[in-house]
Amino acid sequence: MTTDPLLAEMKRTPYWWDTGGAPAPGDDAPLPAAVDVAVIGGGYTGLNAALRTARAGRETLVLDAEAPGWGCSTRNGGQISTCIKPDAADLARRHGPKRARSILDEGEASLAYMGDLIAAEGIDCDFSVAGRFFGAHTPRAFEALARKAAGVPDTVVVPRAEQHREIATDAYHGGIVQLRHAQLDPARYHRGLLDRVRGAGARVVGGCGVTALMPADGGWRLTTPRGEVRARAVVVATNGYTGPATQWLRRRVIPIGSYIIATEPLPEGLMNRLLPTRRNVTDTRRVVYYYRASPDGRRMVFGGRVTHGETDLDLAARRLHAAMARVFPDLGQVRVSHAWMGFVAYSFDALPHIGVQDGLHYAMGYCGSGVGMASYLGMRLGQQVLGLPEGRTALDSLPFPTRPLYTGRPWFLPGAVAWYRLRDHLGI
Ligand SMILES: Cc1cc2nc3c(=O)[nH]c(=O)nc-3n(C[C@H](O)[C@H](O)[C@H](O)COP(=O)(O)OP(=O)(O)OC[C@H]3O[C@@H](n4cnc5c(N)ncnc54)[C@H](O)[C@@H]3O)c2cc1C
Repeated sequence: MTTDPLLAEMKRTPYWWDTGGAPAPGDDAPLPAAVDVAVIGGGYTGLNAALRTARAGRETLVLDAEAPGWGCSTRNGGQISTCIKPDAADLARRHGPKRARSILDEGEASLAYMGDLIAAEGIDCDFSVAGRFFGAHTPRAFEALARKAAGVPDTVVVPRAEQHREIATDAYHGGIVQLRHAQLDPARYHRGLLDRVRGAGARVVGGCGVTALMPADGGWRLTTPRGEVRARAVVVATNGYTGPATQWLRRRVIPIGSYIIATEPLPEGLMNRLLPTRRNVTDTRRVVYYYRASPDGRRMVFGGRVTHGETDLDLAARRLHAAMARVFPDLGQVRVSHAWMGFVAYSFDALPHIGVQDGLHYAMGYCGSGVGMASYLGMRLGQQVLGLPEGRTALDSLPFPTRPLYTGRPWFLPGAVAWYRLRDHLGI
């Protein structure tokens, strides 16, 4: 008899809502008639922007359609990377070598920002610079990784023969370790930020989606179910949940579901054998899996994309469990206690974007790696709203591509994912 890999009492909410608390809606007092800065979206992007503007004395109002933090910012894997997907050669081809270097430097800056911010604000969120093991899914992928890693600081090549000192699996053909990559508890980080933003005097209101935005009196008029608000400046921080109120942006981001499971607590000592270094793990596939130990070292938190289109959570959880058991056969009998998903935002050029469109400030399109970049670009957005020169980034006003006939519903996704998965399977 085979056992169902899902516990009967499996929660269909993020594991992090157990450790950091479920997002709470915020106050229900009447909205102010006018503010200096309105921020649409209460995730990492919006809160980091609001922290800057509120601390600079601007009356700041953050509005979220759901409870602030309900989006990706309490649902992610908590892995912090340098967040720029295209490599140096690809970026140099598209933007020239100098801009390519500056874009990659922004990725490094986002990683450094996280450590600095969390230390400076004293946010208690299990932040740890544990490093990342980046596994190669084919021998050719390993050669390419090793070539690119040569001479890169804080990066170590791990041949297959030595792989078990990092991870107890033969699923990879070696890999590299990126020592400066970090991890945290996403919901506790979000909660800490929320406290700091409120402490700085900003109001953060949930259950209050912006349904329309109109230019008015040199600023903006925002329509919400709880009335209208005028704002001198508006920040759009809606990423994978960007809707028709900002259709120009919606046409430029592709919402893609990312799914995660957490296991029930593992037997004592097992995690020390599976992931002795406690690093984040991901791999060179186009359709990746990403995983890590929970901060208490008791559970595996395993994420990825499991079907070509969006699917129901139980199906996703079963497939993720099967994928996890292929990496770690020892986890085949361990069951799933939590399963959840959220929508990340891809861009058509695989880069994050920050800029001003028709007077609206925005940052989005983190392509599934936004813990660091959303935080960092949110902070830069806040500085840009304040007109500070240090707010400028190498990503400012890059062309933000869309495609003809694309309105924000990714009808092409199942075909694209199937194509990428086939290439992963064939190792090309
Ligand atoms: C399952 C999963 C795993 C991930 N794992 C990682 C990881 O390990 N590492 C990593 O770097 N990144 C990861 N990410 C991505 C990362 O979480 C996101 O890039 C980041 O949280 C984006 O933050 P944000 O503030 O821009 O958007 P979000 O946190 O998604 O917030 C957007 C908010 O906007 C609100 N909103 C939308 N429309 C409106 C409106 N009209 N009015 C008011 N509010 C509105 C939504 O309700 C939502 O709360 C993951 C994402 C998911 C879903």
